[in-house]
Amino acid sequence: MFDIAVVGAGPAGYSAAINARKRDKSVVVIGQNTGWLSRAESIDNYPGMPGVSGQAMLAAMRDQAAAMGAEMRPGVVHQIIPLGESFGLSLGADFIDARRVILCTGAKQPRLLPGEAELLGRGVSYCGTCDGMLYRGKRVAVIAQGPEAVSEANFLAGLCAAVDYYGAADEALTAKIRVLSDKPEAIMGEGHAQALKAGGEERAYDGVFIFREAMALSALLGGIEMDGAFIRVNRKMETSVPGVYAAGDCTGLPLQVAKAVGEGCIAALSAAQAL
Ligand SMILES: Cc1cc2nc3c(=O)[nH]c(=O)nc-3n(C[C@H](O)[C@H](O)[C@H](O)COP(=O)(O)OP(=O)(O)OC[C@H]3O[C@@H](n4cnc5c(N)ncnc54)[C@H](O)[C@@H]3O)c2cc1C
Repeated sequence: MFDIAVVGAGPAGYSAAINARKRDKSVVVIGQNTGWLSRAESIDNYPGMPGVSGQAMLAAMRDQAAAMGAEMRPGVVHQIIPLGESFGLSLGADFIDARRVILCTGAKQPRLLPGEAELLGRGVSYCGTCDGMLYRGKRVAVIAQGPEAVSEANFLAGLCAAVDYYGAADEALTAKIRVLSDKPEAIMGEGHAQALKAGGEERAYDGVFIFREAMALSALLGGIEMDGAFIRVNRKMETSVPGVYAAGDCTGLPLQVAKAVGEGCIAALSAAQAL
């Protein structure tokens, strides 16, 4: 059990981790270095580091957090489950327990496909290693929009009769997998997913697996109050869910590194104080 789980490995998440470690709390940071900062060629408005590249800044933040004792876990948090005094964070087949959660998930929220939310758990899955056995000998589609897609598709190929992979070709994919460049448009089915609409046609599948680098907040933590597209917080960075804090781009404008690290610091101090 960790004191604090930080969801999202960007500047807000690393700042939260560094400041939680300064308060001697055990911390895990879940995510990979693929957030917005990694795409910035040069950051000129962050004090003390003129002209630094986004990737160099992110690597320095990560190294600092790790050196201070924060545990790093690559992966995507699929769901956060309140368990009374703590939270369970599901990362596909893995599960992490933490007493407090800080959401640092950035501004980019994936858009769900029509039919996805309705058929989740009924033919639609976010985890091959958890649900793959249900599709042994069957025909599945993989929608690949995140770093776990290749290994999960290979795992499914070992179980399923056929795997259609909607995403960029990757030499690590096993030969059995058929790569399709059509854009998935909707998931169809009455009570259970039965087909995927892509490239203007409907293709029949027994299951549809979706791998993204982030989750829609509504799926991540049910009942969290939003303010438009952003998570509603108070000045302590508390969300509407007791024990859950949020920081960085996911709480609103301006979408800037300085604001993200400032909020990450406040969220960590508030969470640490409440432990
Ligand atoms: C091209 C570009 C240039 C920019 N230039 C500047 C600049 O010059 N100055 C400046 O101040 N700002 C700049 N920005 C903005 C800056 O990058 C962001 O404000 C900052 O990165 C926000 O930090 P964050 O930690 O809140 O979110 P992010 O950096 O977006 O990190 C969020 C992370 O959380 C991950 N995540 C989301 N959901 C989950 C989940 N369920 N499980 C696990 N991980 C998850 C995401 O994949 C991502 O890695 C720029 C952005 C871009 C794209």
